[in-house]
Amino acid sequence: MVTVLDTIANAPRLRHPEKAHKPDQEVLRKPDWIRVKAPVSKGYAETREIVKSHKLVTVCEEAGCPNIGECWEKKHATFMIMGEICTRACAFCNVATGIPTALDPDEPARVAHAVKQMGLSHVVITSVDRDDLADGGARHFAEVIRAIRAATPSTTIEILTPDFLRKEGALEIVVAAKPDVFNHNLETVPSNYLTVRPGARYFHSIRLLQRVKELDPSIFTKSGIMVGLGEERNEILQLMDDLRSANVDFMTIGQYLQPSKKHHPVIRFVTPEEFKSFETIGRTKGFLLVASSPLTRSSHHAGDDFARLRAAREAQLRKSA
Ligand code: SF4
Repeated sequence: MVTVLDTIANAPRLRHPEKAHKPDQEVLRKPDWIRVKAPVSKGYAETREIVKSHKLVTVCEEAGCPNIGECWEKKHATFMIMGEICTRACAFCNVATGIPTALDPDEPARVAHAVKQMGLSHVVITSVDRDDLADGGARHFAEVIRAIRAATPSTTIEILTPDFLRKEGALEIVVAAKPDVFNHNLETVPSNYLTVRPGARYFHSIRLLQRVKELDPSIFTKSGIMVGLGEERNEILQLMDDLRSANVDFMTIGQYLQPSKKHHPVIRFVTPEEFKSFETIGRTKGFLLVASSPLTRSSHHAGDDFARLRAAREAQLRKSA
């Protein structure tokens, strides 16, 4: 039987193997409402220096995030742990696919030191998929959480994890480390999974989010999608219902932007008005918070959103008292 690891082992170590959707397909021109701040500020340079001096990787850079100028100016960076090489090859993602390097046991301490030096009140930690590890990297996630707690106890911690597909007990290890927010992105509607997120299973991701709440209801759960990948409006509304069935608190919706010609094309640019309507619909469906705009990303304004989440939960508790 050919396994995922066999496939990875036999794959050439290229920047984007297997990610081509329709190579050299015309890239749609960005509309006027997608404007980003150029990464030129003093704060940006300082954040870059801290990241580099601690030998850390950020998803901001690896994913080519359009918000990097704005976020890094405010010293908001999202650290990507467990290396720069991912074991999956999602059609939307700019992170390299291949055989990952061994885990670095010093990484948790370096992340914690960088968080302290940056003075972060809220930090987001994500990772590449590590299907090659027996626990999918769960213990490493937990060690990073514990190292940050020890270095800066007042910093709230948000994690954005892979699905730990078929890794028995992995989720429990991460939840036991008590992150404040557990984010796992669905990325897109189920009908797109085979072309956009072929290594993942939609209902496995829903179940994972539901299980986090079952294990520890005090942890906020969060999930996000990109739109503009050919999904239908009704599919987004159904996905919202699926997330609410799993008691997910917070949903993010942003415009997919094609990192290169080799990635999945943008099928269309969703208008700001449509994003606003998703936010309104999401709130009526019971999410504590919905962030929906063309440049919304999982970790964009994560600290401010965490404060809003807490306030929304307290208001809900007062109402039900
Ligand atoms: S939105 Fe997230 S990934 Fe993008 S630059 Fe900001 S912190 Fe980094």
